[in-house]
Amino acid sequence: MSDTIFDKIVRREIPADVVYEDDDVLAFRDIHPQAPVHVLFIPKKKSFATLNDCGEADAPLLGKLLLTASAYAKREGFADDGYRCVINCNSGGGQTVFYLHVHLLAGKQMPERML
Ligand code: 5GP
Repeated sequence: MSDTIFDKIVRREIPADVVYEDDDVLAFRDIHPQAPVHVLFIPKKKSFATLNDCGEADAPLLGKLLLTASAYAKREGFADDGYRCVINCNSGGGQTVFYLHVHLLAGKQMPERML
């Protein structure tokens, strides 16, 4: 897997606006936010280019990414209003950084339909 901008963020080689971190997950604000809240949640220890690269053994880590996003939403007080979690997979899915990440978007009304 090639070195991406998110690998550099995990290694603290380039700055990011980090909002949460634990042993497994790093969360930081998206540099081009698409909503008032736009945070990216990424695995720290093991990186995957896309969701397609994850297997059964990675289910706990994938679950943790989502649960960390929902815990952040609850802590920040917008969980009940609502939010959207998105994983883009490969270029056809709109992925531009090939390091698995979950987008957490909130703070505005999301469109009901993506298509
Ligand atoms: P994707 O399109 O791969 O699902 O999402 C990649 C996201 O990473 C985009 O929303 C983009 O704005 C964000 N991004 C790209 N480069 C950087 C960066 O250097 N720093 C941060 N914080 N976000 C970035």
